Amino acid sequence: MTIAPPVPDPGQPILQAVGVTRAYGRGAAAFQALRGVDLDIRKGESVAIVGKSGSGKSTLMHLLALLDRPTSGSVLVEGSDAADLRTRDLNRLRNATFGFVFQQFFLTAGQTVFDNVSLPLMIAGVPARERRRRTMAALDALGIADKASNRAVDLSGGQKQRVVIARALVGEPAVIFADEPTGNLDSSTGSQVEDILFGLQRDRGITLVVVTHDRELAARCGRSVTIVDGVVADASPLSVASGEVAR
Ligand code: ADP
Ligand code: MG
Repeated sequence: MTIAPPVPDPGQPILQAVGVTRAYGRGAAAFQALRGVDLDIRKGESVAIVGKSGSGKSTLMHLLALLDRPTSGSVLVEGSDAADLRTRDLNRLRNATFGFVFQQFFLTAGQTVFDNVSLPLMIAGVPARERRRRTMAALDALGIADKASNRAVDLSGGQKQRVVIARALVGEPAVIFADEPTGNLDSSTGSQVEDILFGLQRDRGITLVVVTHDRELAARCGRSVTIVDGVVADASPLSVASGEVAR
């Protein structure tokens, strides 16, 4: 047994997975996508979730983001078990605490940039005036305030991703979850999008949880968590497990 070097306590966990499993399907046909994951994510840190395709990264992220419930085990948000919440309260907590940069969370193509970004505030019931102020502030932060009236469909890939980040940011979330945030972008646009995400982490103390195949993006995160066949293979700070690295 090796003795771990002392690690300064970077703060309380905002998210915890405790013995989390997730099976898809039932009985003999069930597939165990996660087989017992323990993970703490602390306030303000950036964590890359890496691993081969099909290893369970997106499943884990959906569970941490309260978009799905575990088959067994618990997901805790600031120490409270999400399983104790009714669906309505869970939805409210998710909307208030998390922002999402997911490829499957498409923009509404025919709607304006403004309407796409203000959606989380609409859901939260924020009054129109305040909604306008906060939406324009988010667009400003992403350098796309001049695109507020454009339809989402008319933007470039990089501009669309900025809109997605503005929407993730507008509710002033504690955590932003990003699943392959630069996957569809050319490398220069991708690194601009990365700069924006890490800037939010640094300047606003937002916790970043990023699923990625991109080694450089993973290396910019405070630490990497490698998933192999539904378990955490290595979650040591500032390292990626040898042999099982992101492609
Ligand atoms: P990753 O994001 O690492 O590529 P996923 O978490 O998406 O992996 O998937 C993990 C495993 O679970 C894969 O084998 C995938 O085929 C399976 N899986 C994911 N979602 C479902 C589903 N809804 N029904 C059945 N199997 C699924
Ligand atoms: Mg995935």
